[in-house]
Amino acid sequence: MSDPRKIRLIMHLRQTGITDTNVLSAIERVPRDHFIPPAFHDRAWEDEALPIGLGQTISQPFIVSYMTQNLELHDRQRVLEIGTGSGYQAAILSKLCRRVYTIERHRPLLHVAEQNFSDLKIRNVTAICGDGMKGWAEQAPFDRIISTAAASDEPPPALLEQLSIGGILIIPVGGQGQAQILRRYQRESEEVYSKRDLIPVRFVPLLPDVPRGNSYSDIDLQELRA
Ligand code: SAH
Repeated sequence: MSDPRKIRLIMHLRQTGITDTNVLSAIERVPRDHFIPPAFHDRAWEDEALPIGLGQTISQPFIVSYMTQNLELHDRQRVLEIGTGSGYQAAILSKLCRRVYTIERHRPLLHVAEQNFSDLKIRNVTAICGDGMKGWAEQAPFDRIISTAAASDEPPPALLEQLSIGGILIIPVGGQGQAQILRRYQRESEEVYSKRDLIPVRFVPLLPDVPRGNSYSDIDLQELRA
């Protein structure tokens, strides 16, 4: 770890309460600059959210680390992520669990994310284009589920249903323009879920369905490629 910007970011994350050394090590090992457009490369190791195209953002490293830490991951687990975006959060998860399943509704973003996984030889991430609010029934149940887009009120029922017993779901809740809070659900039994509020956050909204007409030809992929 020679890059002073990287060292500064890791120190900053420690100071803001990221104590899980496995999470810090994943942040150190995954090149965040690879997941953002070239115009923002000089800010890749700052603790800030950055645009990734199509009005979406890559979360700030603190939020990625905080959500990951609160997932309490083990290397045998299967994890579902809603909102692949750039693929950065999935890449972090991939270092800490057995397999990551990730769903993105914008096909061009998914395409770039898959290229990023392949460039970085990350082979335990399976990504699909779809509506993550429905979860991924064929692969359920999941030990952990993380949504990187905000539910307006309650989590989509499918996500709670597709959690294994003992499993943890981390999801931001609250509509746009309203205060959002990061919430942690744990499935205690078939019927019982415990719920805990974590910290105030700001995420893009979870939107239903796959947008029509955003085929590759509509979008300048060069603009999206890191
Ligand atoms: N985890 C991403 C951050 C992405 S921002 C990263 O590390 O870069 C949130 C993403 O959620 C956006 O790309 C948005 O398109 C996606 N999204 C919103 N609603 C969705 C849904 N219903 N299903 C799948 N993806 C969704």
